[in-house]
Amino acid sequence: MSETRTVHTYCRICEPTCGLVATVDADDRVTLKPDKSHPVHGGFACHKGINFTEIHHDPDRLNHPLARRGPAKSANTIGSFEQLDWSSAFTQIAERINAVRAKHGDDVFAMYTGNPSAFNATAREGARRFAGQVGVRYAFGSGTQDCTNKFAASERVFGTANLHPIPDFAHTRYFLSIGCNPRISHMSFVHTTDPMGKMRDIVKRGGKVVYINPRRIESASPATGEVVLIKPDTDLYFLAALIHEIVANRWHDEAYLRAHGSRVGELLAFVANYSADRVAGVTGIDATTIRTIAREFASAEGASVHCSTGVNMGRQGTLAYWLVHMLSLVTGNLGQRGGNLYSPGYFPAATVGKPKSDDPFFDTEFGRIRTITGSLPGNLLADYIESGKVKALFCMSGNPLLSMGGESRLRKAFAKLELLVVIDIYPNATSTLADFVLPATDWLEREDVNAISVGFHTEPYVQYTPAVVAPVAERKPEWWIYGKLAAAIGGADPEASATFDPLSRVSRQLAGIGLTLDELKAKEGHVFRMPDPEPELLFAIGVQNGNKSVDCCPEFFTPDLAQAEVIFNELEAEPADALKLITLRTNYMVNSWMHNVPSLKRDHALDNPLHMHPDDAARRGLAAGKEIRVSNHYGSVIATVKFDETLRPGVVAMTHGWGHGGNSRMRIASNHPGVNVNELLPTGPGSFERLSNQSFMTGIPVDVALAS
Ligand code: SF4
Repeated sequence: MSETRTVHTYCRICEPTCGLVATVDADDRVTLKPDKSHPVHGGFACHKGINFTEIHHDPDRLNHPLARRGPAKSANTIGSFEQLDWSSAFTQIAERINAVRAKHGDDVFAMYTGNPSAFNATAREGARRFAGQVGVRYAFGSGTQDCTNKFAASERVFGTANLHPIPDFAHTRYFLSIGCNPRISHMSFVHTTDPMGKMRDIVKRGGKVVYINPRRIESASPATGEVVLIKPDTDLYFLAALIHEIVANRWHDEAYLRAHGSRVGELLAFVANYSADRVAGVTGIDATTIRTIAREFASAEGASVHCSTGVNMGRQGTLAYWLVHMLSLVTGNLGQRGGNLYSPGYFPAATVGKPKSDDPFFDTEFGRIRTITGSLPGNLLADYIESGKVKALFCMSGNPLLSMGGESRLRKAFAKLELLVVIDIYPNATSTLADFVLPATDWLEREDVNAISVGFHTEPYVQYTPAVVAPVAERKPEWWIYGKLAAAIGGADPEASATFDPLSRVSRQLAGIGLTLDELKAKEGHVFRMPDPEPELLFAIGVQNGNKSVDCCPEFFTPDLAQAEVIFNELEAEPADALKLITLRTNYMVNSWMHNVPSLKRDHALDNPLHMHPDDAARRGLAAGKEIRVSNHYGSVIATVKFDETLRPGVVAMTHGWGHGGNSRMRIASNHPGVNVNELLPTGPGSFERLSNQSFMTGIPVDVALAS
């Protein structure tokens, strides 16, 4: 009799959360395959998800709690660690927490939460308990590195941070994709299976797909759509010009706009400044092309629009996302078949995202700032530590040293922390400066529900997964670690509390569609498929402004609209041969992780060279493969030149998340260290968007010259 068993589960690396079938042998070795029986994914998955087993079985994983035993911390020391049992770890951390509190008071504790936590429906409950128990005063998260602009825009335009209308791929005749490369990223803030299949289907049925990007991205092909090259960090002006041309030529839907929008005149006054002719030089897109896109979008029988990280990470991501919503509204596509829809899924999250205040800003010594989705600006983390406001930091599923701007500065700051606790699956760069490193389970080792997809699904479903295998060694789920830490400093023990259920929130939300968690668990593949989103849901359920109208020009944005003109003038004045740095996503990593996976270390993914157009290189006398210095006001890195004709001249690109030199605890990663391009990013006051706390991470001016 075979001793293998199979488990229906799903991937938690990126937003499609593809269905997988895990086969587990008698020795608990796991193999993963796409789940052909999944009612939505039907066998779609990528190599990253399938190869996740290499992470699960990786001998370099964290398997036991570790306590630092030396050497004294400085920016570049790598800790030596002693293995502990869990009980000792909690006792020692509690002692350190109490010592910090006795010395500095209650208001010096901070948390940093990384991107994988968003894919973990069970983590939040334990983290919430711990934050309450220890009295976390300052919260930071990876959202301010790639997406908080979206929450900041929607909260003012729709009256809820949680409404992000998704393209109706099944019916759209024109899809405008800005700063998004679905073949590589599989999309963000829209959860759809096989996104390139969706692009192919649009083209096949006679529709059009246009990607706006600073490089000829991998997604483009005759079968999947064309690229229009744009200069980085100018998306706001491109979008403004589209709306300007649509309105000026009366291609818009006046009745729809007036019926659903307020403050329309203020919107039109803003875009009036940005005709196609005026923005052509700044955006790098000629006026005829802008007008053509405007006319085709406005005249399509169902046109949809989406923007992603290439837009989010610029200086004006909130305003750009505002105009994404406006483009959809003025053309009568918002909440219409083939346009952009609201897909509530099993819980209408839009109803719980209303802004708490008309003025969320408060005074600090770093300027007047706000929180967004609970987080302070990540680019102020070093400032908070350097100023002595933060003395202890708890970091879960994140690697801020590599994923945020200014690694050198962060290293010095982290070395000053009196307590740094890292909860992760790997001994990552941040953990080298930690006092305690606690081993978390991976997603094969914990139960879960795909709660991250609420509000984003083109084909809504909810899926439960049990843990595929028991945790290896002493790995524990984050909810348990944080819950036990809370208990160690006086809270209720999660294991002793009958009321503690890490999926309690999901259970409450499922009740809204009359489903219990047990019923979901009993369904085939643990999946419950819901009806596809209907156009009327956007205004009926999604929009939260009192009169159900869309605020076409929130007063909240007023200072930033004026600033947009200042930035436009600066862009216009830039020298013609200026170089702008963008980040390059690859299929061989995700954000700053997956560097220790042998099968993802292929010939073209062994390091992170500087991609440069040959014409730009020739002007600087640089040959392919030459060692160069990339530098700017904020820092410099040494890399090699890789010629790349997909780039718009004037644009250079590097992949972020590298820089593993010296971290020998991750052997594969340290054999292919690369350099951390985030050294070239600004940090501190003025380095993030006022409206959203989003760090400035793309369109960064740099110089490139031979290294010696
Ligand atoms: S597309 Fe994303 S979710 Fe799907 S298998 Fe690949 S990494 Fe996992």
